[in-house]
This record gives sequence, structure tokens and C-alpha cells, in this order.
Amino acid sequence: MKNSFITTLVLVSLLAASCSEEGALRRAAATITADELRNYTMTLAADSFMGRKPFSPGETVTVSYLAGELEKIGFRPAFGDSWFQSVPMTEISTRVAGPVTIMAAGRRLELSAPDDIAIESPSQKKIVEFKDLPMVFCGFGIVAPEYGWDDYRDVDVRGKCAVVLINDPGLYTGDTTLFKGRQMTYYGRWTYKYDEAARQGASAILIIHETLGAGYDYSIPRKSSITPGLYMEQVEGDTPPCDVCGWLNGEAADGLFSALGYSVQTLRKEACQKDWQSFGMEASITMNLENTHTQNTSMNVAGILPGTKNPDECVVIEGHWDHFGIGEAENGDSIYNGAVDNGTTMAWAFEIGEAFASLAKKTERSVILLFPTAEEQGLLGSSWFTAHPPVARENIIACFNNDMMLPIGRMNDIMVTGYGQSELDDMLAVVAAKQGRYILPDPTPETGMYFRSDHFPFALIGVPSLFARGNCDSRVHGKEWAAAREKEYLTTRYHKPADNYYPEMDFEGIAEDAKAAFEVAWRIVTSDMRPQWKTGSEFANIRPAVH
Ligand SMILES: [Zn+2]
Repeated sequence: MKNSFITTLVLVSLLAASCSEEGALRRAAATITADELRNYTMTLAADSFMGRKPFSPGETVTVSYLAGELEKIGFRPAFGDSWFQSVPMTEISTRVAGPVTIMAAGRRLELSAPDDIAIESPSQKKIVEFKDLPMVFCGFGIVAPEYGWDDYRDVDVRGKCAVVLINDPGLYTGDTTLFKGRQMTYYGRWTYKYDEAARQGASAILIIHETLGAGYDYSIPRKSSITPGLYMEQVEGDTPPCDVCGWLNGEAADGLFSALGYSVQTLRKEACQKDWQSFGMEASITMNLENTHTQNTSMNVAGILPGTKNPDECVVIEGHWDHFGIGEAENGDSIYNGAVDNGTTMAWAFEIGEAFASLAKKTERSVILLFPTAEEQGLLGSSWFTAHPPVARENIIACFNNDMMLPIGRMNDIMVTGYGQSELDDMLAVVAAKQGRYILPDPTPETGMYFRSDHFPFALIGVPSLFARGNCDSRVHGKEWAAAREKEYLTTRYHKPADNYYPEMDFEGIAEDAKAAFEVAWRIVTSDMRPQWKTGSEFANIRPAVH
């Protein structure tokens, strides 16, 4: 009797504690308002920010505004006594000198860049000259221990040119037990294939273009190969990239393989089998490239709200600050203001940060608000941050990222890009239900969007990362209307000077998104929990599980 009385007492006091904590959570969440989201967005999209382009006067205005606002809402500098982290970058423009030639089974094939072959060089070398570099066909170019898959097994590509297929076997077989079926895994991305070939020691990597697997036609890699690329500066210990990276267009690849007595289509089918073996081709490639390098430095901006018990452990809330600056005028407007890409998200991050700062009882773990630079150039700021984090990597417990949050009012859905990767999805589902909303797995997972925004470098170092926002189902107007608004944005404003702030924007939906992310993050920083990757996630084995 006595025992059970004590038990009841303990339970009641626990519940009481948790009730008051829930009250604190509610009050803090109530500081997130549509009006404040509007003000942040309006400011960040003002012409005085000059389109927020890295290395331009717009950068100076933007980063000092962000640091000032972080201080105003009660955060401290995240990098020692500085709000800023220098991100050194190298711009490389590559010129392909003369034709690229391939000797295939005694036949000389001549390829012209960029029409037949789209290559660039991320190398620090000024001149890259390869004469008769042996070529090795490496299937999909994938090493995935969780699937028992290794396309580089029993072949040596060191100092050679690896030739690989785009995407992964799941797409071409439709077999959901093979990788993730039609949903693109990280192994399907061209960035992965470049990195893996570099880890294998290849001097060059060529991906055979195929529109379904790439998600775009050959004109995209073609154009990118003749546009100067911006790269993170290499630091000691990094695996250097391959000297030459690029794509073969489908017809050029067909020509090459048929000269060797193969068909690309048949090889693609065969390479979908697990026991398939990569092989050295009876071919070698000759190419000459000249690089011009320009060094430049941009800034990440971040603040920290230190935890009371475990200040070294943190969650990161982030939204990139960079956009395209001032460019070609369209309809008399030349400033790329980037209100939706990514003003609304920076507003979302500030409002979440402010909610944390408003808590009377500070959280046990720290909260970092991060505004990375150079997302548009390839996630460079966030990649630099994860390579040089202000806390130990294993102490970044979770990352919440967003990009292009549409200010079109309250939504029924919370669309999760890369749904099924981590337990954060399940935590979000609980909060979504409280808001009367449902979780919507990204409707187009084959486009690999999860690998194309700033949370991705966090995933690559093993940090469970969430990219979630209401997007597809308006509470008032339904799904078709929301799809039409998104399409309208993508066709008339996305990456255009018309991505301005407009008074008719409705921030109530983004306010709900911010409250949802705030609550999930709050549960993590007020506890010892470490959300895990799900079994089968390609990021599950990166860092040892800590419970
Ligand atoms: Zn963006």
C-alpha cells in the first residue's frame, strides 16, 4: 500500500514537471509569429541586400545583418568570439585543348568537348595531360557495404579512367529490394560517383549519360562543364578529387562500347546483378586540359545558445543565406532578391532561435543557428562547416534544414524530403498530428532532392538530418491549388529577379512549420536522446551508434 502510494506520488510529480515543461514549450512556440517571419523576409529580400551574392558587397550587408540579429535574439558567437567562419573557395575554369581521343580496339575515336564529352577539372594543377590513360568499366561505380555491393571489387582503377553508369540498380530493375527501387539513393548521384572514384585512386571518371537516370538531359552537364566551377579549398588529409571528372553523352558511349563489341544497354542490365564483375576495357583515352584558378573567401554565419548541462552537444538549425546578386535584367529588374530562396527559411530559423532564447529555463544541450554560404554553388558553406565544426562532429545530435519555403498559408501536409532516413521523421509525425497535419513523403524521391540541400553534408558525417516543410496541401484551397502555386513560383520566380517579397505573402504556414521543427528540436535538446538513422539508410554506418 505504502509502496504503491509512493509510486503514485512519484508519478504525479513527474507528470507535474512534464506539464510545466509542456507549458514552457507552448509559451516559447507562441513567440513564433507570421508577422515576424514577414519582417525578416522583407528585410532580407530588400534591394539594399543586393541579391546576397558571395564575394560581393551584398555579402557584407547580409552577414553583418545576420550576426546583428543573432545577437539581438540572445545568441552568442558560435566560432569562439566570432559570428563568422571563413570559407575559402577556389573557382576553376577549365579549357579542353583540342579533341579528346579514345583508342578502342585499335580504332581511333575523336570526341569533341562539350558536345560528346562534358569534362572539367577540379584539380589544383594548371595543366592536366593524359596520354593513353587505360579505361575501366566499373558498372554503377558503387561501394555500398549495407547492400553487400562493390563495383570496384577485383579491379584496379589507380591512375586510370573509370567509366560508370548513372543512378543505381534499383531504378533500372524496379526491384524494391535492390537499393531503394525507384527512389534514388545517394549512390545514384553523380557527386557520389565522383567521390568514390577519387577514393579508389582513379585519375579520371566519366559517367555515361542517360536521361531517366540523371533526371535531366545531356544539356545540363554540358553547360555545367563550360561554366567555371566553385570548389572548397582542399585541406590536408582530404582525398584529392580525380583530375578529370565528367560525362560521356549517350551516343558517344554507344559508339565507344560498340567499337569494343558491347552494348551499353546490355551492360546496364548485367551490371544490375550483384555478382557482376567490372572489367578493364580494351581502350585508352587522351586528353589535355588547362585550368585557371581564382581564390576567394566567403563567410558562414552562426550563433549558439549554450546548453546548461551538455553545452558541447547541440542541434543545428540552418538555412543558406546566399543567392545570385545582381545580374541580367528581366522586366526591368536586375536584383535577384531571393525572398523565397532563401529569405523565408532564414526567417524560419530566426523564429525557432528566438523561441529557444525565450525559454526561462534554458535547455540542457546547445542550439546552433547556422546560415551557410554558397549553397547555390554546391553546398560549399555547409560542407566547410561540417568539415570544421565548432563542436565535435559526434556531438551534433541532429540537423534541421530548410530551403525555398513557400509563403502560401497553412498546409495540411509536412512534406519530408528523403523520408524514411531517420527517427526524426517519426518525432515529426507526432508533432504534425498535434497540429492536425500529416507527414507526406517527398512525392518525387527519384530526383534525389535529399542530396541537394544543406543538410546533406551533415548526413554525410552521420548526423541525422531533417528537411521538412508544408508544401503540397493547402488547408484552405487543397492540393491542386498548392501545386499550381508551387509551379507558378518555379516557372516565374525561381532563380529570377522576380523572387521578391510581395505583401500578399501569407506566413501562417511557415509559422506552423517553425513551431513543428522547434518542438522536435526542443525534445532533443532537453533530453539525452540521440535519434538514429534507420536500418538500410546509406548513412547509418557512418558514425558508431551512441545511445
Ligand atoms: Zn535555396
